[in-house]
Amino acid sequence: MTDKPPTIPVTVVGGFLGAGKTTYLNHLLRTGRSRFAVLVNDFGAVNIDAGLIARHDGATMTLTNGCVCCSIGGGFLETLGRILDEKIPFDHIIIEASGVGDPWRIAEIALVEPSLHLNAVIVLADATRIAALLADPHVGDTVRNQFERCDLVLLNKTDLVDAHATRAASAAVAALREGMKIVETSEQTMPDLPQANRKTTSPFRADAVPDVADHEQQFKRWQYQRGGSFDRVRLETALRALPPQLLRLKGACTLAGDTGPSLLQMVGRDWSLTPVEAPERDILLVGVGTDDLPDPAELDRILDRALAAPPAFDHHGGLQPPAISIPLREGQIPCR
Ligand SMILES: [Zn+2]
Repeated sequence: MTDKPPTIPVTVVGGFLGAGKTTYLNHLLRTGRSRFAVLVNDFGAVNIDAGLIARHDGATMTLTNGCVCCSIGGGFLETLGRILDEKIPFDHIIIEASGVGDPWRIAEIALVEPSLHLNAVIVLADATRIAALLADPHVGDTVRNQFERCDLVLLNKTDLVDAHATRAASAAVAALREGMKIVETSEQTMPDLPQANRKTTSPFRADAVPDVADHEQQFKRWQYQRGGSFDRVRLETALRALPPQLLRLKGACTLAGDTGPSLLQMVGRDWSLTPVEAPERDILLVGVGTDDLPDPAELDRILDRALAAPPAFDHHGGLQPPAISIPLREGQIPCR
């Protein structure tokens, strides 16, 4: 009897926009001893998440051709092929699904490749929002589908809610399917990757080429790019004025008076600004919203009101700071 050649384990990390996927990925990269290949699929037109992935011994690759689970051919299998061609094989492949993507679909596509096996599909849920998201008529189905065949749920951000709300969030997830395995986590308490051995390998198997999803139709992108910086106080006002259809906004920006750039993260109505190491000194934010998200120009106008006037323009009274000249990709991008 001949042994089959060893296959590389694949773990897919999913979860809705802002659930903490990148934080978890960085935890795995910092604490794991394996040489990882990390594939990151941002839904936004610019891959912000890939820039936030910690440096590690392996490789980080971005999947930029739209939502991977909707675009079976488009670059994903070629990227996997490149990973498998590496002279020194990777110990483990981690794929970060987009925030609207279906992680199981991605696992199925990956498993078309016979030299891979599925270690686990892990889905993060934001304890502060998951019950509301599941009940939301616009995004509820997308969120529910993400949990359909996952091996493990990380009920994240439990440090931000009280015990009663944590129990309610856990119950909302548990009600989706019998036997759901849920672990409560926060940024400080994230678990290691389930070990890739026979006992813990996912019981789910890819059995058919999945149907093509239509996340490209269900969600809209918005990209905001400007030279210069924001005024902190007016930025707070502008963020409050953004419409509720905007589910997620993130990226780098500079605040007037600050020496370095900040990472702006907004999930629903909550937002934070944290100093970040980034080469850019300008503003580059990407947003994802429901299909009824207002026109990008309208959203641009809201954030433009928060721009600090650059010193050179001060004497001339309120001239618009020049936009930097990278072409914008706005609105819906067709599924490939
Ligand atoms: Zn998709």
